[in-house]
Amino acid sequence: MPTFHIWTLGCQMNKADSLKLAAGLRRLGHVEVADDRDAELVVINTCSVRQHAEDRAYGRLGLLRKRREAGADFRIAVMGCIVGPTTGELERRFPWVDVWARPQQFNPILDLATPARDISEGEFWAETYGLPDGPSAFVPVVHGCDKFCAYCIVPLRRGRERSRPVTKVLDEVGHLARHGVREVTLLGQTIEAYGHDLDEGADLATLFEGIEHINGTDGILRTRFLTSYPRDLTDRIIDAVADLPKVCEHFNMPVQSGDDRVLERMRRGYTVAEYEQRVQRIRGRMPDAAIATDVIVGIPGESEEEFRNTVALLERVQFDVIHAAAYSPRPGTYAYRNQPDDVPAEVKKERLQTIEALHAESAARINRRLLGGTVEVLVEREQEGRSTGRTRHGQLVHFDATEMLGALVEVTVDRVTPWSLQGRLADALTLAVV
Ligand code: SF4
Repeated sequence: MPTFHIWTLGCQMNKADSLKLAAGLRRLGHVEVADDRDAELVVINTCSVRQHAEDRAYGRLGLLRKRREAGADFRIAVMGCIVGPTTGELERRFPWVDVWARPQQFNPILDLATPARDISEGEFWAETYGLPDGPSAFVPVVHGCDKFCAYCIVPLRRGRERSRPVTKVLDEVGHLARHGVREVTLLGQTIEAYGHDLDEGADLATLFEGIEHINGTDGILRTRFLTSYPRDLTDRIIDAVADLPKVCEHFNMPVQSGDDRVLERMRRGYTVAEYEQRVQRIRGRMPDAAIATDVIVGIPGESEEEFRNTVALLERVQFDVIHAAAYSPRPGTYAYRNQPDDVPAEVKKERLQTIEALHAESAARINRRLLGGTVEVLVEREQEGRSTGRTRHGQLVHFDATEMLGALVEVTVDRVTPWSLQGRLADALTLAVV
């Protein structure tokens, strides 16, 4: 049987795309192999959010070229965010790649793998769901993004916002539950945009409500969602998170900067005050909710004062997690064309370190509060007698136990670091999946 291997870079959306492509290839009789040297088809699913991710894909392509030149016989497909509407430049630069496919446009890869197939493409993909690789799974519900932030390549590569029908999403979640999934993470570049383009009047809260009813022995125990965009995060959605027991009170809401002038240059579409008003609304309904955020340092023209305003915001809000990144110009974006990358690399590095130190401090403080108490954990992995899972707030927990995969358990916390909790099993709240 023909073999394939997919190497995935980047975000959860890419991971979900890879699982879906793998499911499609399997339906057509192909077998997935763990080592790309055993594969007749090698797929690289790329990310272009930062130059570093692109460089990793290019490095791998260089290795594949050498292997080809040494006589190995296999085909190469590249998909994901480095592939834009036109591929001329990529084709010139990497003539040894057999096919290029834009995000979620898997058909060119199927054409390469199985040119003769007797199935309508629309139906084929609508009925193809990725097979989960554990008790947690990602479910893309809205593709693309309409926000066009100045620095971001995503709308140019993933296109405009497109929501999947409610019934399709719930069917997929039901399928995942029957295959042992206990926690789904609903994905969108801006997840609350879900439903804006549907006639049925649905929104993200409609999906939460539907998933609450996927019960029984093969039920979903937890629902997560990311990534939040402050202006689309309505009171109705916040209320649904507060009221529905399965929805984890864990928000991933990038702020990107704590300075209104920078937010305007970024074209983020909200002010610091509007962002903080959303935080207050969340904490008004759920005082213990976890809020994670993203920050970009060194955006074109970012002054010391503007950066200090970001630090002040982070200190005021006390986020649970802060993901920080240094600005990296992406060809094709508004910022690339109009805003010179004028913050020196060493300044970006210093600012990054300042934010990372703030994050380590706040994560350590939050985790210390849990010492001696118990936390609810969904067990996601087991290795060498140890289990690993996450709390409802997304903290990583390690504890000594086996044969608990997929179970919801209580763990007494004995030790903490800023990045994880360690403890011992206190109670099993549900049965394990396997
Ligand atoms: S909201 Fe902005 S940063 Fe996020 S994907 Fe859309 S354009 Fe990119």
